Amino acid sequence: MTERHPGYRDDCIFCRIAAGEVPCFKLYEDDRVVAFLDINPVNPGHALVVTKRHFADLMETPDAALQAVMPVVRRVARAVRRELEPDGINLHQANGPGAAQSVFHFHVHVVPRRMDDGLAMNWALKPGDRAELASLAARLAAALASGDA
Ligand code: 5GP
Ligand code: ZN
Repeated sequence: MTERHPGYRDDCIFCRIAAGEVPCFKLYEDDRVVAFLDINPVNPGHALVVTKRHFADLMETPDAALQAVMPVVRRVARAVRRELEPDGINLHQANGPGAAQSVFHFHVHVVPRRMDDGLAMNWALKPGDRAELASLAARLAAALASGDA
């Protein structure tokens, strides 16, 4: 049965998947969240956890929706760990073109990793400049305290 969720956009592939109008390799669903395999997996078991309602990105997604998503992310990660025994799992969530977001409907990637998979997601640990860290921390903490963020 198909059901269009609030904010449904017919130009959004994840709205259409959430509505059951486009097929997917579904792993799980409840009234707020659907999880399915990414059609272009970077590694076997690469999954997406998606809000059923349309929110373009993290900034647009209300707390209640995020609170519904994260336990599902963990359950999917547990299933991936149990079934595929990866060496590790990365979570990935992109916002905006500079972050290579390609579907503008909130989702979290669950990415199983292998030691030798060569995926360019890791970076070398290089200590930051402490003065720069201190001034950025002060700026960001002030933005959070002001209630604007
Ligand atoms: P983003 O680039 O926004 O972080 O991630 C979007 C992801 O959605 C991509 O990894 C892409 O492979 C996946 N994707 C795009 N279209 C479809 C689709 O029709 N079905 C499925 N299962 N995944 C899709
Ligand atoms: Zn959508």
